[in-house]
Amino acid sequence: MDRFAYRDGQLFAEDVALDAIARAVGTPAYVYSLGTVRDHVDRLQAAFADLDPLICYAMKANANLALLADLAARGLGFDIVSAGELDRLRRLGVPGERIVFSGVGKTRDEMVAALGHGVRLFNVESEEELEALARVAADLGQRADVALRVNPDVDPQTHAYIATGLKESKFGLAIDRGEVLARRVLDRPSLRLVGLQCHIGSQITDVTPYGEAVGRVADLARRLQPDAPDLASLDMGGGFGIFYKDRRAPSFEEYARVVRPHVKDLGLKLLMEPGRVLVGNAGVMLTRVLYRKQAGAKRFVIVDAGMNDLIRPSLYGGWHRIWPVVGHGAPPVGEADGLAPVDIVGPVCESGDFLAKDRPLPEVAAGELLAVFGVGAYGFTMSSTYNARPRPPEVLVDGARFAVARRRETYDDLVAAETATPTFVEAAAEALDAKEASS
Ligand SMILES: *Cc1c(COP(=O)(O)O)cnc(C)c1O
Repeated sequence: MDRFAYRDGQLFAEDVALDAIARAVGTPAYVYSLGTVRDHVDRLQAAFADLDPLICYAMKANANLALLADLAARGLGFDIVSAGELDRLRRLGVPGERIVFSGVGKTRDEMVAALGHGVRLFNVESEEELEALARVAADLGQRADVALRVNPDVDPQTHAYIATGLKESKFGLAIDRGEVLARRVLDRPSLRLVGLQCHIGSQITDVTPYGEAVGRVADLARRLQPDAPDLASLDMGGGFGIFYKDRRAPSFEEYARVVRPHVKDLGLKLLMEPGRVLVGNAGVMLTRVLYRKQAGAKRFVIVDAGMNDLIRPSLYGGWHRIWPVVGHGAPPVGEADGLAPVDIVGPVCESGDFLAKDRPLPEVAAGELLAVFGVGAYGFTMSSTYNARPRPPEVLVDGARFAVARRRETYDDLVAAETATPTFVEAAAEALDAKEASS
């Protein structure tokens, strides 16, 4: 369910015509429907109501400040993967109690920042990370609250780049090793074992492996409980799939149904870390057709948004519905029959710069406006300025109103951190200074 719909032949986000937004802010532009995000939050909370979870939104999916502020006001928690994300939450006044810190490569400085803000827990992913965290906490005279991220070794049947819970994944700890480490945490005065976590992958469209994974983590929790008095939470991760093209996405109720039996009598607070499912279909990207071109049998539509603005198609074959905003009606529900397939490509100087390949599209001319659907998650957050292209604005829609929450970048923004006349220093002298300073 989302709040984008064609009315009188043109596409609206809630009660705002997207054509009007494109005229106001230019293209390319990201547009998010706040009403859609709020619907998802409400429905997720309702489906899991009896389990009373803390929903920690995985903000790497979409970290727009105004969007985060809206979610924070609704009482959501947050899952962060860097001190940069923590900084965004700190600016919004989100208390540490509502923040969990994930990620396979936390630096010492990031640990210090997170301890300073009093995050609820660290999701720890390796033995060496655990040792590093124990040292940082001890140095600060603090105790770090730890949840171990374990790999239940179930196959989530998703794209290899976003499957994370297998034994040979870069993420997490093998579940049997997790048990050994959990017992080690119990012996460390600067650490406290407060939770277990798993996150088996992203864009999961089959709930069966999901339930199995949570079951295995719950079993481990039961084995540890007699010896771990501070064990307080089980975090089922995120990864709920959404509808992009043809694989049906499960409902929140279906996830709740497979998770509930494993956790309801466990006596632990249930945490979850949904990202994509809350925001993915709440966003579209608007882009204008620049040119059309034919090369042999291939037909291209060249648009003003490229892989720097939206990298999902190039990076992992992400499929996004693309359709004109005005003048061609709503896109067909199934396959678009009788339309000539085109490659929709961007202006970036890479063959991998495309938004869609062999895509049936109505005949469109230069200047026409297209909507790229389902880009609210891992869209803007993965964008770059490659080819010195300023990043697009982010616009929020709320009912019949819209607001620019992030303006389009300028060329000044692109060079703000650079200088053409850097100050060179003697490397040897620099090293000597550093040595003297530290002794
Ligand atoms: C990315 C990530 C999530 C969110 O995944 P979605 O597929 O967007 O729900 C949750 N937890 C962790 C640890 C992650 O890395």
